Amino acid sequence: MNYRIAVIKGDGIGPEIVNEAIRVLDRVAEQYGHTFEYREILMGGASIDVYGVPLTDEALEVAKSSDAVLMGAIGGDTNTSPWYQLPPSLRPEAALLRIRKELGLFANIRPAYLYEELKQACPLRDEIIGMGFDMVVMRELTGGLYFGERGTERREDGTRVSHDSLVYDENEIRRIAIRGFDVAMKRRKKVTSVDKANVLDSSRLWRAVVNEVAADYPEVELEHMLVDNCAMQLVRDPKQFDVILTENMFGDILSDEASMVTGSIGMLSSASLNEGKLGLYEPSHGSAPDIAGQDKANPIATILSAAMLLRYSFDLDREADAVEAAVKQVLKDGYRTVDIMSPGCTLVGTAEMGRQILERIER
Ligand code: NAD
Repeated sequence: MNYRIAVIKGDGIGPEIVNEAIRVLDRVAEQYGHTFEYREILMGGASIDVYGVPLTDEALEVAKSSDAVLMGAIGGDTNTSPWYQLPPSLRPEAALLRIRKELGLFANIRPAYLYEELKQACPLRDEIIGMGFDMVVMRELTGGLYFGERGTERREDGTRVSHDSLVYDENEIRRIAIRGFDVAMKRRKKVTSVDKANVLDSSRLWRAVVNEVAADYPEVELEHMLVDNCAMQLVRDPKQFDVILTENMFGDILSDEASMVTGSIGMLSSASLNEGKLGLYEPSHGSAPDIAGQDKANPIATILSAAMLLRYSFDLDREADAVEAAVKQVLKDGYRTVDIMSPGCTLVGTAEMGRQILERIER
């Protein structure tokens, strides 16, 4: 098959880590007989330097007309980079909000997976970790509290008062729930829907709609959990989770919590999907300007994001499995970048880590 991938290398370590992900995709293409056509576009600081804006309409069109978008990271040192002297709408991060909105990326998936070999980085005790954990947080990305009507006024007596509204209609809930159940069908077939239905009306509607969607997925086990309980359960017994399905703000907080219990920022991938097959795939970390250009960055989060791209945008599950298995094998064989280094392991740079992974991709 022939697929078009828009590539945003971005700023800082972005180009280094994306190059490794592309080398891995090329190996997959070679081994499985696919053709990946890469269409590079500029975004963030790299685009500001050339065009004066963080994302051009032309770049956006290329992204829209591609089958998937692979991204490194954007942004610079927020204290010293001249990009941050610009008005907020022209800064690198403005491009992120725009591309998410224009591509209709309403579903954000962040896996939190604990590798046996990196257990020492996990802040939880051994008896809690057990054999490790493997979950994804599926977060609604374009509705809820962050997008509701808001304002700050003064009452007649002069007291300042603010409000933010949390609004969801049933269609917004249904489409993210369907995505959550679809993802569960590709995994261990369990969905934990997280809400605050004991207090919030929006959560009661959330729960009702999730129940309706569940009726179409009889193979998937569904449980409902209150968000405060979920925050506790993530550190008490993370093994119990497969897919955590939740609204925007709860997902913002829980996905950070879930990823931090793995302890390794350079390992965490993410995907943001639209209603069709188009998705934007990027590591969960930023552009790490402190180590840019030094061949120190861990490319694994980006390589695992490329695996998600294969799985969710192209439905190439076997190919995605092969990339994930290669990453596991490299860790097992003791190769580490500096951020995950431990005694007795072999320290490698960005390019060498990429090479070690692609050499282990097998059909
Ligand atoms: P960061 O994630 O870039 O870096 C935090 C720390 O983790 C740094 O010490 C960095 O060296 C390290 N680190 C991050 N990724 C690594 C990797 N792959 N391998 C090894 N070490 C790694 O966060 P920050 O420093 O707060 O932000 C830097 C810039 O990135 C800012 O401009 C910020 O706005 C931007 N940012 C962009 C995105 C995005 O593109 N989606 C996300 C977050 C932050």
